[in-house]
Amino acid sequence: MVRTLSQPAAADALLSDGSTVTIRPLEADDHAAVLDLHANRMSPGNQRMRFFAMSRRAPELCADRLCAPTRAGFLALGCFVAAGLGEEELLGVVEYDVDSQRPMVAEIAVAVADSRHHLGVGTLLIEHLVHAALDRGVRIFEAEALSENRAMLQVFHDLGLRVERHVEGPEVRVVVRLDERDETYLATLDERAAGADVLSLVPLLHPRSIAVVGVSERAGSVGHTVLLKIRAGHFEGPVWAVNPHAATIDGLPCHPSVAALPGVPDLAVVAVPADQVPQVAVDCGRLGVRALVVLTSGLDRQQSRKLLDACRRHSMRLVGPNCLGIAQTDPAVRLDAQFGAVVAAPGSAGVAVQSGGVGIALMERLNALGIGVSSFVSLGDKYDVSGNDLLQWWEHDRRTELAILHLESFGSPRAFARTARRVTRTIPVLTVDAGRSAAGRRGAASHTAAAATPTVTRQALFAQAGITATAGISELVETAALLHAQPLPGSTGKVAVVSNAGGIGVLAADACSESGLVLPELPAELARKLLAVLPQGSSAANPVDTTAAVSPEALATAVALLADSGAVDAVLLCLAPTALGTDPVRELLSTPARRTRPIAVVRLDQRAPVDYLTTQDGGRLPCYADPQSAARALAHATDRARWLAQPSADVPRPEGIDRKAAVAVVDSFLSEHPEGGWLDPVATARLLDCYGLPLVPSAWATDLHDTVEAAGTLAPLGHEHRVVLKAYWPGQVHKSDVGAVRTNLHGREAVRDAYRGFVRDFGDRLAGVVVQPQASPGTELFAGMVQDQVFGPLVLFGMGGTAVDLLDDRAARLAPLTTTDIRTLLTSPHGAPLLFGYRGAPPADLDALEDLLSRLSALASDLPQLTDVDLNPVIASKSGIACVDARLRLEPRPAPDPYLRRLRRLPDAHEE
Ligand code: ADP
Ligand code: MG
Repeated sequence: MVRTLSQPAAADALLSDGSTVTIRPLEADDHAAVLDLHANRMSPGNQRMRFFAMSRRAPELCADRLCAPTRAGFLALGCFVAAGLGEEELLGVVEYDVDSQRPMVAEIAVAVADSRHHLGVGTLLIEHLVHAALDRGVRIFEAEALSENRAMLQVFHDLGLRVERHVEGPEVRVVVRLDERDETYLATLDERAAGADVLSLVPLLHPRSIAVVGVSERAGSVGHTVLLKIRAGHFEGPVWAVNPHAATIDGLPCHPSVAALPGVPDLAVVAVPADQVPQVAVDCGRLGVRALVVLTSGLDRQQSRKLLDACRRHSMRLVGPNCLGIAQTDPAVRLDAQFGAVVAAPGSAGVAVQSGGVGIALMERLNALGIGVSSFVSLGDKYDVSGNDLLQWWEHDRRTELAILHLESFGSPRAFARTARRVTRTIPVLTVDAGRSAAGRRGAASHTAAAATPTVTRQALFAQAGITATAGISELVETAALLHAQPLPGSTGKVAVVSNAGGIGVLAADACSESGLVLPELPAELARKLLAVLPQGSSAANPVDTTAAVSPEALATAVALLADSGAVDAVLLCLAPTALGTDPVRELLSTPARRTRPIAVVRLDQRAPVDYLTTQDGGRLPCYADPQSAARALAHATDRARWLAQPSADVPRPEGIDRKAAVAVVDSFLSEHPEGGWLDPVATARLLDCYGLPLVPSAWATDLHDTVEAAGTLAPLGHEHRVVLKAYWPGQVHKSDVGAVRTNLHGREAVRDAYRGFVRDFGDRLAGVVVQPQASPGTELFAGMVQDQVFGPLVLFGMGGTAVDLLDDRAARLAPLTTTDIRTLLTSPHGAPLLFGYRGAPPADLDALEDLLSRLSALASDLPQLTDVDLNPVIASKSGIACVDARLRLEPRPAPDPYLRRLRRLPDAHEE
């Protein structure tokens, strides 16, 4: 197969200490550095490990080899770190050389400078080498190591790849299979990434000193405002202001430039005009600043690129540009470096927003509720620091009890999904599902300079990661109020509604049903106990009607009975204001706020949409102005309880998959069609067969005689057997629309007629026909896969047949699918009840459908060149499932490697 020999692009990544390095192919200009690394920066012991036998010429020869012009089958990468004043320091190198006899096998070797061991340089280099190698068709790495070379063996072990070792005398031959990267590999990778990431964020979120660069004297300007806020917030460390034109601002001495600062700030907040941002970033980097928050907006492409380059080169994490700033309420820091008209009150919500405006609104409401904020980051255009970084930070931050994210785009959704999946197990992660409408997505794409994500994809991400996705800011805050103060409900969604006015109980019951909650009838014993305390005329059906005459004591007892009964998963108490003199909740507030199950209160006379009622024990009951808000919050909490109740599911690997054969089909198709395209029926059948996907037996024929023969073989037993004929030509889209599908053919004559009809209708276009047995009737389903350039493969499932586009009833999950993903995907389409025995019809073969989805997931994950799979329809009946129509598309460009650890680069960073 033809492979282009373009060099991999440079990539930036974090070492385990949180510093930024660049990984790039070695060039002729690197010769001196490579020589120096091997000759002077490795001990004789390490040199011996590298070269086995030591000769004086070895370092020189090695540098010659690594820095030689690009050649087929060889690649050498170096790991560089900035060393001040535009200089780079080479920390280590890695190389592979493809075996001339075995093109899928490459010999590899690594070398790291002595002083840079234990920072993960070797591991990072190999990760990137694996990525490049897979791209070029290499599947196996082999390495020779002296058996005492523990460091080298450790590097392979740390990679999390399955490693075989063969001892050959004093040497060990290590064999690593690259295409078997699995969950272990990913988990190891996640752990490394999270540790490095959190360390890299310390100067940003726990700075010891700060400079505000671009503080104008004009009150009300951005820099000025931020400086005032930092000072008003009593930041613990030194604060410096940079302005070349003023001597002092608000009594604080000004420094003419970053270079002239009396110390090195950990963090610089930058508010200079756009054209000065790149230079300020470079100055900060040279001085040793470790993090930047760029408030400035309106940077052009070149300015943006220079800004990010400076950050990468000087190992600075960057928030923004075009953001509102950050806040950290930790008493050891007390930093309020954002220009919103609100001060973050100390508290327990971690907040990260793409839009500053949303951030202000969120902080205000969290403050008002008393939940407060642990740390706040306005991400702005997200050149570097993203929601994913913050999730990892909060995961390790003891003050953060819930995470709130407002994201319009995802830079690295697979990494995000993996992180979120982990973090949601410990703390709730809430988000606004922004950009649900086409108009909303257009808005998001234009104002954050990033493509917004289609709804189905985003929702798949949220559902799989256990993220609580709300429709808007109010719903988010209302849900946060419940999750923060009350225990989680059980996972069945059973609610007891209690009200002091029957009509309100009915409203609340409707709101609950609309949110997917249920109001079960109460057990007789419980009902009896309730009626014993409630006034005459009360009803203990669900909703429970206490009548307006209920005493505060009776109400408190009734609520407690329900919340601790075990009969329901949550209690919704709805109160209409009465003029009876006593506040109905008076007694409730002298009892404990936290019971076995959560309690939410609705007071129709409350002004604020949500507020807390504080109990005497200091606990809080969320109180809503509207039953719908309360019901939605309870429904979200129930979803979270369900998520937590799921076992952390594994990814099933179905039996009988022949991956090698599938790769051969892909490679042979792409060598014949270098631009990619749709597979013909024969290749389609072959590829599906490698993954055990249930295509009905399909014969391929190119003339009348073969067609009739094939029909006879597929439906041999005479009259009850029928066949289907489908005309095929390359480039065909829908067949039945144009009369290219003839079903229900019975007997040779009918087959002949159908064939002749195709010849008549399609003439020279007709390349051949597909002959299939007529499948037994059932529900027509759609199952498929699309490869998203950013999200990776997405498995789709829904209602199928020829009306599929009209119904548009499909759900999606990101591959690879866990057992839980598969189950929820099966039940997600609106039409799903048709599969479970709808109106007396026999249920479909669900095991077969689960198996189909897990095979699709494996196919999607294994073959990155596969961009589209449409199985439509898959006909499901009680006796099994059969796919009668399949379309597959391949593209030569593999999807981006979701496993590679690298920091974001702007799209045009290496084009100009
Ligand atoms: P297209 O989607 O390109 O129009 P299909 O091959 O999906 O063509 O055929 C259209 C419809 O014909 C299917 O939705 C299904 O209802 C029916 N059909 C096709 N092949 C078979 C088959 N082998 N057995 C039973 N029904 C079939
Ligand atoms: Mg079809």
